[in-house]
Amino acid sequence: MITVLSGGTGTPKLLQGLKEVVNPADLTIIVNTLENDFFSGVYVSADIDTVLYTMSDMINDELWYGVKNDTFITHDRLEELGCAELLRIGDIDRATKIQKTQLMEKYGLAKACEIQAEKMGIQSKIIPMSEENSDIKIMTDIGELEFHDFLIKHRGEPDVLDIKFSKVKPSKGIIDAIKNSEAVIIGPSNPITSILPILSLDGVKEALNETYVVAVSPIIGSGAVSGPASKFMKALNIEVSSVGVAKLYENFLDNIVIDDKDFDKKSQLNQIVNKVTITNTIMNNSCVKKNLAQIIIDSIP
Ligand code: GDP
Repeated sequence: MITVLSGGTGTPKLLQGLKEVVNPADLTIIVNTLENDFFSGVYVSADIDTVLYTMSDMINDELWYGVKNDTFITHDRLEELGCAELLRIGDIDRATKIQKTQLMEKYGLAKACEIQAEKMGIQSKIIPMSEENSDIKIMTDIGELEFHDFLIKHRGEPDVLDIKFSKVKPSKGIIDAIKNSEAVIIGPSNPITSILPILSLDGVKEALNETYVVAVSPIIGSGAVSGPASKFMKALNIEVSSVGVAKLYENFLDNIVIDDKDFDKKSQLNQIVNKVTITNTIMNNSCVKKNLAQIIIDSIP
């Protein structure tokens, strides 16, 4: 069994490669839930849905959000009726969210995801990091903002001064999944708002200490490939580089995978982590994704 810690853009790209090189039934994916909330009357768990759509080959992998070739009839009609939607939710995507909202009321989030994954023909286990809702606040130069207000309404533009999120309980089964895995892959997701929330759960760091952990840096050179990771790392005084990422995971990290462009950081990284793997990590086509996935799997002792 291989366990993957995932957010909603970088790691799903890697999952597209991983599901080609390992049996999907041997993958457990623990997914960030920090940004989950209700929008337009439905529960939105963006990272979970991105992982569900990635593993069932439905993902809109231009946006890394929603379903490819989705329609927006409901969204357009809601706007005509005067309901401005903060999130532009497609029709098929909305069906997933309506069903998840209903299933959650009955069974909780983890079981809801399990049922949906099965219906989508997914063999991997997809576990939300927590069944509880997190409270996240982004402190900015224009005041305290909710995560989606910062990212969508303000287009991620304000200067970020600090980020605070509440403590939640881990979902059942994630500590055992980590402990019983041959290896844990920390995908190239936002270290602050996708990976740190998972690492902050009670028992996760201790479990990672007992397992072989390989992380792919989402930072190449001095910036993120996409999204607000650089801004968030700066706000928390973490160096924006693969070195900063390695330091964040240093207590339990066995191998860091960095991009070819960062080859000059190898000796610095070797002082933090045992093994440094250098390869192309810019996953802009299926060959790179598969190749990177294979290199990671081959590095597991
Ligand atoms: P976010 O909430 O949009 O930041 O979403 P994620 O948690 O999934 O993280 C996005 C991270 O993925 C960003 O920090 C990117 O730098 C990283 N990322 C996206 N695409 C790639 C890629 O092709 N290669 C690598 N190494 N990182 C990537």
